[in-house]
Amino acid sequence: MAEGSPLRVAIIGAGPSGFYAAGQLLSVAEPQFAVDLYDRLPTPYGLVRSGVAPDHPKIKSVTRAYDKTSQHERFRFFGHVELGRDVSRAQLLEHYHVVIYTLGTSIDKRLGIPGEDLGGSHPATEFVAWYNGHPDHCGLEVDLQAKHAVVVGAGNVALDVARMLALAPSELEVTDTADHAIEVLRASGIEKITILARRGPLQAAWTNPELLEMGELERADLEVLGGELDERSAAALAEADKTRRRNVEIMQDYAARARTGKPIIVRFHFLASPVELLGDEHGHVRAVRIENNAITAREDGSLAARGTGSYEEIPAQLVFRSIGYTGQPIADVPFDERRGLIRNKEGRVTDPEGRHHIGEYVSGWIKRGPSGVIGTNKKDSQDTVTKILDDVAAGLMNEPVSDDIDGMIAAHCEFAVTWQGWQAIDAIESAAGQAAAPARPRVKLTDWEQLREAARQALSDQSRR
Ligand code: NAP
Repeated sequence: MAEGSPLRVAIIGAGPSGFYAAGQLLSVAEPQFAVDLYDRLPTPYGLVRSGVAPDHPKIKSVTRAYDKTSQHERFRFFGHVELGRDVSRAQLLEHYHVVIYTLGTSIDKRLGIPGEDLGGSHPATEFVAWYNGHPDHCGLEVDLQAKHAVVVGAGNVALDVARMLALAPSELEVTDTADHAIEVLRASGIEKITILARRGPLQAAWTNPELLEMGELERADLEVLGGELDERSAAALAEADKTRRRNVEIMQDYAARARTGKPIIVRFHFLASPVELLGDEHGHVRAVRIENNAITAREDGSLAARGTGSYEEIPAQLVFRSIGYTGQPIADVPFDERRGLIRNKEGRVTDPEGRHHIGEYVSGWIKRGPSGVIGTNKKDSQDTVTKILDDVAAGLMNEPVSDDIDGMIAAHCEFAVTWQGWQAIDAIESAAGQAAAPARPRVKLTDWEQLREAARQALSDQSRR
């Protein structure tokens, strides 16, 4: 390293954990770090842009903190550059002292039941990416002429999916929901949405504010099936954390509500697991076969679902599986297939024997799994950054052989979208949002070519100046 020049850091994945790690490293006075934040998309913010529900603008406002980080003189953004496609792990290690993987967990978990791939059965990940205008998922065909949609899973993503299906067009039209999704959702014929939970209300993974929102839907009445606490859950209630106890109270309130004649019913159906999706003659889902469950205790005392051997069929034409995410292996980066994460020990990337790959780190969902809220990643990145600082102090860092990062990008990438490129995309989207009636926070560019073109234009404007 040249005397006095900052240590070079590549962070791969421009979602919350990537931005938090960048901000934390840039705030260190000694040693100094220079951060290049890469993303395969031309746009930053990861799941804040393409995961957080469009009717939750307050959650999205966290990007203001990330924008502040982007203004640091030792920060650069390289969008539209994909690890494993454009640049390799080896190339990164040739150029950077530190590489941090903050790629998130992008793959949906599968139910592993017959019929899962029938038409009309979708991973929630794809549906969420579709309504959020992710350029890889704009073409998803969601048949909202269906009358009944079943959402499998009892987490916040399941609530997001159910809520988005239930929102009135007027509620969607003031959000940054992708235009193609607004159009389809506006014409939706959905009359019933069932949220299918394999365990009971005490074990549900959703959180209180998100569950409370379901009770305020303009267009939907609620129904609860199987919401009474079984004996084991009732005994566990007093010891449960506050969130879970409150979840039970909220569900009891929902169960006691009378129907008011709203056009949609959202039904919370507890203690049932899908065992098969049944198709019609066109290969489209027509029903979900479920097994009713009972709550049983595992050896460690935790409560699990056990099938009772009693089955039912629920007629449904749309199914979303929302049972969690898992990570995708990236070329040459050590991966723990069982956990679906980059192999690591407290943020240090390791080989199967637990030895640290010097210079390589991980943070966020791809480090610990898909759990927690956006802010959880702040602490997670801080923990990883602490390990980096300890290692650097101990002289344990990668020794790059070149500092010609621009050369590496020019040689291997079609072109990288800079922060100015993203700002050009942002300006187009925001202006379209302002021009819309009613006004919207933005109208997203959802097509790869449109995004590339907007960013390219910014590059050529810049070079003319
Ligand atoms: P999650 O919170 O882990 O919930 C997954 C759900 O799927 C659980 O109810 C789980 O039940 C169920 N499940 C797993 N395998 C199943 C199977 N084979 N059959 C039936 N059900 C199954 O995951 P998520 O909803 O994808 O959310 C991921 C993270 O993002 C969470 O931390 C969440 O809070 C966060 N998030 C937050 C917000 C927000 O703050 N507004 C919005 C969206 C997401 P068991 O418990 O029985 O395993």
